[in-house]
Amino acid sequence: MDPIKVKLDDCTGCTICVKSCPYTSITMKNHKAVIDLNTCVLCGVCVDACPFDAITIQRTRFKGQDISLFSGISLFAENHDSKLEPVVLEIIGAARELNKDLNTTISAVLIGNGVEHLAEELISYGVDEVWMVDSPEIGDFEEDVEAKLVEDIILKKKPEIFLGGGTIIGRSLLPRVAANLLTGLTADCTELHVVTGEDGTKLLSQTRPAFGGNIMATIMCDKHRPQMATVRHKVMEEAEKVGKNHKGRVVKFDNLFIPKSKLKILDFIKGEGKHVNLQDADIIVSGGRGIQDPKNFALIEELAEAVGGALGASRAAVDAGWIDYPHQVGQTGKTVNPVVYIACGISGAIQHLAGMKSSDVIIAINNDINAPIFDVAHYGIVGDLFEVIPEIIKQLTGNPVKLNLKESEVKNI
Ligand code: FAD
Repeated sequence: MDPIKVKLDDCTGCTICVKSCPYTSITMKNHKAVIDLNTCVLCGVCVDACPFDAITIQRTRFKGQDISLFSGISLFAENHDSKLEPVVLEIIGAARELNKDLNTTISAVLIGNGVEHLAEELISYGVDEVWMVDSPEIGDFEEDVEAKLVEDIILKKKPEIFLGGGTIIGRSLLPRVAANLLTGLTADCTELHVVTGEDGTKLLSQTRPAFGGNIMATIMCDKHRPQMATVRHKVMEEAEKVGKNHKGRVVKFDNLFIPKSKLKILDFIKGEGKHVNLQDADIIVSGGRGIQDPKNFALIEELAEAVGGALGASRAAVDAGWIDYPHQVGQTGKTVNPVVYIACGISGAIQHLAGMKSSDVIIAINNDINAPIFDVAHYGIVGDLFEVIPEIIKQLTGNPVKLNLKESEVKNI
């Protein structure tokens, strides 16, 4: 039986469903809607859009199934340019921690073109099984194709937990999979634990910041499987390599249908910004709207060079087009955890703090003594950054010039 159907008697040929379908899977034939099941992903948008209730969908892929049939922890082994994304090792680390309570198998879904060598790497970090689709038909960044393959593999293997990275691809791919499997997904988790539910079932407790980082929300998915979560990069401990005695196996899914991607990659332009590897940096120097002009970022960059740090920015600076998005720190940018974070001309809005407040030492330079950044700063310099920063650079680069903050003052925190 088709999982989605048009009730021909009720279809008026109004074409609302055609316009609503994000996958262009619906056409009109003889004034009736026709759904192409090869391209339809059963998202159900047309069902909700049809004012005549003329489309029915069977949302029963896993519904009603005994959740005890699901077992094991699985993860999405995101890869690009023949390398695993760094977050994958962190997810394996998280999976191994969870496995101390679940005592089950850890598997990784590995999809791509020429990725077989990565299977061994995954196993060397403690993965028991690699579920692999390696095909020249799969292009990089085709997350719609990868999502379909992940979904098909999950349908076959039924893991009870499925984890992915909170990366750009992970944030696009896992929600597609969760929506199609009719299960829940907690995005951007900072903590994962196993807890025992009222009926004795072991559940994945998924914690993430909410309301701009003001509260931590813990979410459980007790009725649907798999329990799905994405994990923030740089929050969980990377897995260590396991000994050579650990034997894993590779399961090839060669017979899965690989659909054509609806995405057309027109061009791939690598970001040119220097020092963009923010999440691995020990020192970050960030500039905000207080910089006042894009060319003044040179001053922040010079300070970053003087301290051997990476260059960060607030969203205000990014939105103004002064610096590229990969430099943005905060709720909608990167979460960083450096040893030293130097905020220059940044007020300290809650969304910025959400991405940097766990830095070991925070130094703030701001001319407004009441700026909220000083509430989280360990060291604060109240002063004009155009005077303060050149002085710091002079001192750091060897010029024995005594810091002269003029009207500035060092705030006691
Ligand atoms: P401002 O708030 O304008 O602060 C500029 C600061 O510079 C002021 O404190 C001022 O006193 C100081 N200053 C001015 N001149 C000087 C000078 N000469 N010397 C020293 N100091 C000076 N923001 C982020 O940063 N990252 C995010 O990921 C992010 N995500 C968001 C998500 C949502 C949903 C929303 C609603 C907002 C988000 N924001 C984010 C925006 C955030 O709310 C703030 O608007 C933004 O962080 C402000 O950037 P800023 O501190 O550079 O600018």
